[in-house]
Amino acid sequence: MILMEEVIPGIYRIFDTFVNVYIVDRGDHLVLVDTGIESTCEKIIEAVKKLGKPLKAVILTHGHMDHTGSLRCLKEVLNPIVASQEEEVEMIERNTGVKVDVKLKDGELFEGFRVLHKPGHTKGSICLLDEDSKSLFVGDLVVEENGKLKEVPHQYSMDPEMNRKRIIELLEVEFENLMPAHGNPIIGKGKEKIRELVESFNLS
Ligand SMILES: [Zn+2]
Repeated sequence: MILMEEVIPGIYRIFDTFVNVYIVDRGDHLVLVDTGIESTCEKIIEAVKKLGKPLKAVILTHGHMDHTGSLRCLKEVLNPIVASQEEEVEMIERNTGVKVDVKLKDGELFEGFRVLHKPGHTKGSICLLDEDSKSLFVGDLVVEENGKLKEVPHQYSMDPEMNRKRIIELLEVEFENLMPAHGNPIIGKGKEKIRELVESFNLS
């Protein structure tokens, strides 16, 4: 089995069971987007070792257990800085017992990512925009299935209607690649696939 896949230059995907995490190369160090489930920890450690650079920071798109499951293990082994949107801090600290070091705000630039606050799935859900590569890390705002984007099943979201509004807002964001937590990354056609999803809302 492949440990990690280089999705585009400098962006690596690790898939575990049903969830993705992404390692982004920032030159002299690495940054991780989400941490997957408990078993993802050893995969991340192995991948970091293979890439041969320190893991400086972990950014969490939100606090659900399939995104924060290996945070505790990673903190103990690699000791990265932990960052999340400020309204998500409480849930993350409660679920993991790990302190959040950096409380992110909408519009802020952190480790090369523009932070886009998109509450709906949870109150502190964020998307992260890597402006250089035009790649958008969406957390659970949308999921990919068979080449198409879908909403996360409504029962998993705090406010599915609000989540839907946030998806529509992505039409105003400049990006090409879409990196979901669930499903395959969409390279080049990310914006187009969001547009298709938004059009399907108008029909339903
Ligand atoms: Zn979630």
